[in-house]
Amino acid sequence: MAATTVYKEPAPLLDRENPLESMMSRFNVAAEILGLDEETYEVLKAPDKQVIVHIPVTMDNGKVRVFEGYRVIHNTILGPSKGGIRYDKNVHLDEVKALAAWMTWKCAVVDLPYGGAKGGIICEPATMSAGEIERLTRGYTLAMKDVFGPDRDIPAPDMGTGPREMAWLMDEFSKTVGATSPAVVTGKPLVMGGSLGRTEATGRGVMVAALAALKKLGLEPTQVSAAVQGFGNVGTWAAKLLSEQGVRIKCISDISGAYWNEAGINIDEAVAYKNAHKGRLDGFTGAVLMENADDLLTTNVDVLVPAAVEDVITEHNAHDIKAKLIVEGANGPTSASADPIINEKGIMVVPDILANSGGVTVSYFEWVQNRQGFKWTEEMVTERADRIMSDAFEKVYATSQKYNVPMRIAAYVVAIDKVAQTYKFRGGF
Ligand code: NAD
Repeated sequence: MAATTVYKEPAPLLDRENPLESMMSRFNVAAEILGLDEETYEVLKAPDKQVIVHIPVTMDNGKVRVFEGYRVIHNTILGPSKGGIRYDKNVHLDEVKALAAWMTWKCAVVDLPYGGAKGGIICEPATMSAGEIERLTRGYTLAMKDVFGPDRDIPAPDMGTGPREMAWLMDEFSKTVGATSPAVVTGKPLVMGGSLGRTEATGRGVMVAALAALKKLGLEPTQVSAAVQGFGNVGTWAAKLLSEQGVRIKCISDISGAYWNEAGINIDEAVAYKNAHKGRLDGFTGAVLMENADDLLTTNVDVLVPAAVEDVITEHNAHDIKAKLIVEGANGPTSASADPIINEKGIMVVPDILANSGGVTVSYFEWVQNRQGFKWTEEMVTERADRIMSDAFEKVYATSQKYNVPMRIAAYVVAIDKVAQTYKFRGGF
């Protein structure tokens, strides 16, 4: 059968900042503070490897469609690369490159023995059957069989993928190497080598980082209010765990809108409502629907947790933010152009590469357990993850004090310094 090629040029990144440029502008500031030598700068500014594959998939109607997929390995000086795989119609190579570099910094800032990578396939999973997604996932794995590996590159879920896809990936990879290879991928279902505590790990890390930041600001969790944008994996767990610490969650939102309750939203009720309504908050009666969902970002709360999508805090709304603390659950929620405005206003920002690193930390624990052939208890996972997050926060905070720079730049300084020092010891240019 002849293949019907549906390859299209990826949509241009018109209406938002180029995420690669956004990342590089912060990287450049940190590199200058560190006095990074030119050679290391040149090595780190570009990815080590970019793989583009075209995956033919027999669709349920019998026709073959060819999908374009990417895997970008940004850097592996600290160890095998780690990063999620995104299934989305807007996947763009520039974005994958930025996300891969983010993973290098994220792993370095929390001191994991990993480099950074990211993958993606241009597709619309919502319009595809489970069989089509399975064939696509297996085809992508086969195409990447020389890239992936427990000691080379370890994928994980990202937008549009979850434990189901990771199980297919693990199975397909295991077949190609002729041995069950659970450590090739993290985010697997619990029964086949996933880790306890992974589901809540990112939101839990956001909570731990928020509490550490509040302490520095001299604020008690029981005296502050918060707004959480996004009510998916990260947002629900961040909201739930913060509310358990006494924080009054006044506002939550998802793709259906933003919901406000001055007295505080009962997060368990909101989660139960969402679970009973196809994962969405439409019609939730425990709070009032706000006229404009974007107002969540500028509403009168002490803590703002963007935990949905990129580039929501920009030079257009940063002036109006009233929160004293922003804890970035999402990757890249603040555009580089908003940084100076936020800094001018004296708002403390716990940046994405630190705030949402709880997820990759517990992914690392999953990989360690797979390699040990031994399962840790949930207490072991959370206790160790909390400690890693607190230590990383303190290190970044101390760096921000030392150089008198915002936490975001300090996080890049910590990460780039670790990578640069490792290059010095390993040498080999
Ligand atoms: P998810 O798909 O589970 O949830 C996303 C949520 O955001 C949904 O509730 C959706 O309705 C909502 N949303 C989408 N667009 C929105 C908009 N414009 N305004 C308000 N809400 C909107 O995703 P997730 O896993 O929770 O990831 C959220 C963010 O956190 C992403 O940036 C992701 O890269 C980042 N992140 C996730 C993890 C993880 O472990 N899941 C780890 C690190 C970083």
